[in-house]
Amino acid sequence: MTPETTMTDSKKKPDLNAAQQLLLKKLPGVDHVLETAKQDPELRNTPRTLLTDSVRQVVDRLRKSILEDHQKMHETDFTDADILKKIKRVVKSAMSLNLTRTINATGIVVHTNLGRSLLAKEALDQIQIISARYSNLEYNLATGKRGLRYTAVEDIVCELTGAEAAMVVNNNAAAVLLCLDTIARHREVVVSRGELVEIGGSFRIPDVMEKSGAILKEVGTTNRTHLKDYKHAINDETGLLLKVHTSNYGIVGFTSAVALKELVELGEQHHLPVMEDLGSGTLIDFSKYSPLREPTVKESVNTGADIVTFSGDKLLGGPQAGIILGNRNVIAKIRQNPLTRALRIDKLTLAALESTLRLYRDEEKAIHAIPTLNMLTASIDEIKKKALKLKELLEQPGDERLSATLIDAGSRAGGGSLPLFELPSKCVGLSISKMTASVIEKTMRENDPPIIGRIEDDIFLMDMRTVAADELTEIANAIQTCLKGS
Ligand SMILES: *Cc1c(COP(=O)(O)O)cnc(C)c1O
Repeated sequence: MTPETTMTDSKKKPDLNAAQQLLLKKLPGVDHVLETAKQDPELRNTPRTLLTDSVRQVVDRLRKSILEDHQKMHETDFTDADILKKIKRVVKSAMSLNLTRTINATGIVVHTNLGRSLLAKEALDQIQIISARYSNLEYNLATGKRGLRYTAVEDIVCELTGAEAAMVVNNNAAAVLLCLDTIARHREVVVSRGELVEIGGSFRIPDVMEKSGAILKEVGTTNRTHLKDYKHAINDETGLLLKVHTSNYGIVGFTSAVALKELVELGEQHHLPVMEDLGSGTLIDFSKYSPLREPTVKESVNTGADIVTFSGDKLLGGPQAGIILGNRNVIAKIRQNPLTRALRIDKLTLAALESTLRLYRDEEKAIHAIPTLNMLTASIDEIKKKALKLKELLEQPGDERLSATLIDAGSRAGGGSLPLFELPSKCVGLSISKMTASVIEKTMRENDPPIIGRIEDDIFLMDMRTVAADELTEIANAIQTCLKGS
């Protein structure tokens, strides 16, 4: 926060008129303002340097305004009360955290830009315990010797998926990179052209492949790839057959893809490992609860994939992590790769991941406790209840300018999961007379906490699938502020 104009600068200005000179004289000095600010109960606890910087910034800005456009200035702008108000605003903005809680009214459950998955209470509690105290993170309590951090989750991952061994890293992108680097460095990796995915935020299979030192061997076409395409591509240089779940798009129409089962058989014939990058691995079969259908991790393991990778914070509903499943040999090799240290999972994530995974031992409990699962399987009646409640809260003050309507709309899983499915949902559509939808959208976005919705047909829509019941009042209050400002 460097002052834009200094006292000496302004004094040098030769063409000050009488009015400007008078205003400058009235402008209190930094020292005086600072003394006043220090007395103010609201500012008393502000860190000293921040307070000094803020005072300087406000006084400098006022001085600049006098010099540039003194007609707009009034003496009242210089009262202690007014200056203090300005200082408080500057201090408040500097003190508030950049990473802030938001209300997700987009209906997209695993929203990558809004933080993907929300953690279950069990996971939050465990983070608190493990981060506030020492733990056995890398200490074997049975032997009293050094232990491995990955053992905290390996048994539960194997129990839930049927895998022989498991390993966790920072995220799924890291998991894929690490596997390719360990298994297929300088060797060819056969992938279908229909599966060369790009995931938001610049994860692209061909680029990851290049970074890992593996050589991409594309086969088939965008819409159709056959087993013979893989067969013809296999040679002495081949190191791996890779299947990538097309998690954020679907190829429809005249299509054909080779099932994992066929790839596994082909791999066995040629003594080649087969890896599947599932992206958003799910541990429950969604088709039991909703129109969603997504292959489960267990299915991939049962089919015989040698390595399976997936995210911790997509459909799993845990913290950001990458989970790698495989046989003991492969996992041991991966653990010895020096990259593993660089892609290491941190203890808070590990704590949250273990408690999230443990909830899956009782599927009903998992659906209840894990917010991602809860929101994805919510019934239309539950969602409608929130929509009606919000409509009621909005209409209570009886402001005629406002109109709130219930609108049927589809919400999505998001996070590159289940791209083709729309879940039936309920939105509250909000319009305010003489206010455009984009003004409403902006006002809501600038609210504290920010409320993120979407505009459709010139109406601001808030999808109630992803809004928590205790956020409805906050939304109603934000809209009151919106009305006051119009
Ligand atoms: C999401 C996804 C990734 C990347 O996972 P992150 O956990 O975001 O790093 C990789 N592959 C596929 C198929 C994905 O869907």
